[in-house]
Amino acid sequence: MNALNGKVAVVTGGNSGIGYASARKLKEQGARVLITGRSAERVKKAADELGVDGLVADVSSVNAIDELVKQSQKMYGRVDVLFVNAGIFIPAPVGKVSEELFDHQMDINFKGAVFTIEKFLPILNEGASIINLSSVNAYTGMSNTAIYAASKAALNAYTRTAATELAPKKIRVNAVNPGPVATPIFGKTGMEEEQLNEFAQAMQNRVPLKRLGQPDDIANLVAFLASDEASFITGGEYNIDGGIGVNHILG
Ligand code: NAD
Repeated sequence: MNALNGKVAVVTGGNSGIGYASARKLKEQGARVLITGRSAERVKKAADELGVDGLVADVSSVNAIDELVKQSQKMYGRVDVLFVNAGIFIPAPVGKVSEELFDHQMDINFKGAVFTIEKFLPILNEGASIINLSSVNAYTGMSNTAIYAASKAALNAYTRTAATELAPKKIRVNAVNPGPVATPIFGKTGMEEEQLNEFAQAMQNRVPLKRLGQPDDIANLVAFLASDEASFITGGEYNIDGGIGVNHILG
């Protein structure tokens, strides 16, 4: 498949998990791909493995995003696919939400996503596709996710308005809402291995398809939304969650 031949794709947070798998898929489909992340070492390792370009840019810094856009423009001129994927998950129960946790999570998941789009806009081609990595957590009310969920719900709200306003430029903006996907994100919460395994098992039991998502499941949808085959799709939100969003009362 060469659905993305001639296109330039930027994947934020592309050195791990969903971003990594998506960068691989976008490249397989013919795109020139740039991945970003926070650690020079991890970005370089992933970029070398994937055979793509890599740059360090912490999306919680608007200056760093400005620099990333400048570098991208130098390297490619313009960009066709912007996969706004970088994100963190810090669980905390209501009543134990610190200002620091709130700011850190919102700075990366919402503010970082918004300013990635705002700053890349001037170098996006007509017909470009922006894909925002959100989460079914925006809707689930799952314990310990109040701020994470709010960061993703806010991103989905931004997605809809951006879709309306960018439509005259033929720039499409969509959100992808995964259910639980097997990536390193949960290991970064500080949970012990046993707790992590129990958490994964509990999640899996809740999924009607009885498995966790794999990064490639999400990458397939991202590659489709990135391509011109999705040229009539904008302002949408796509659950990709093994059915966890279905409110099955019995069964
Ligand atoms: P991951 O931890 O494997 O990858 C996250 C990526 O984001 C890494 O490359 C990391 O370097 C990058 N990142 C984090 N903070 C950054 C920052 N400040 N600046 C630049 N890059 C930064 O996790 P993942 O599961 O692949 O997560 C990718 C996205 O998917 C996130 O937005 C996450 O919220 C979302 N998501 C994940 C799941 C899941 O179950 N894994 C479910 C729904 C949504």
